[in-house]
Formats: sequence, C-alpha cells, structure tokens
Amino acid sequence: MDRPAEMAQAAELLREGLRNGTPETVAADDSEDDAEDEASAPEGRILYRRHRARERNKALRMKKIAAVQKAGGTLACEARGFDFEAVYGHRGKGYIECHHIGPLHEAGESTTKLSDLALICSNCHP
Ligand SMILES: [Zn+2]
Repeated sequence: MDRPAEMAQAAELLREGLRNGTPETVAADDSEDDAEDEASAPEGRILYRRHRARERNKALRMKKIAAVQKAGGTLACEARGFDFEAVYGHRGKGYIECHHIGPLHEAGESTTKLSDLALICSNCHP
C-alpha cells in the first residue's frame, strides 16, 4: 500500500479508538477524487473514566524467579517448557512472565505465596 497519508489517518483512527474505547472503522475508499476532502469529527470533549484493578505485588515475580533459579531450575515456561534463553540466547535471558495459577479475581483478597505462581511464557498466556 503506497498511500502514506491514508495510512497515517487510519493509524490515528485506530489510536483514537484505543484511547476512547470506541474503535472506528475505516471505510475502504478507492476513489482518488475524495482525496482532497478533509475528514472532520468533533473532538476535545473531556471524558471521565473509572477503572477497577486488582492489587498485584510486582516484587513476587522477582522472588518467584529467584526461587526457581536457586532450586537449579531454568526460566522455562511451566506449561510447555519453552525457554526463551535456550532458543534466543542472551536476548531471551530472563524473559518470562509470572502468573497466578488460580485467577486473582477468583481468589479475591488473599495472600499470594510463591507456590501460587507459575512462570508462563507469553506464547501460552497472551
Ligand atoms: Zn509457554
């Protein structure tokens, strides 16, 4: 696709959709005649958002990793064994995610132990 202006506009609409939660669709427009028409839309309104989030302790990931390494383990995915360092060398070193074995929204307010956590790669847990 060699239409940088349209691509830039499409990218901006996608970004706007991500920001305000209402993804815009970009209609395919093959007519070159409309290229000079300027797109316009109302913007700038102040929006209020409210989010709920579960408290997570980021230090637990590092403690889990340290515990696995101390036990002689590698930072391989506990689901399927994928090891980023083994596959990608130095670039993959330390590249692993840490997830709760039981979903935090099910556990609710609780104390997380390292045994409640698993090292899972981003292939298995997108
Ligand atoms: Zn995995």
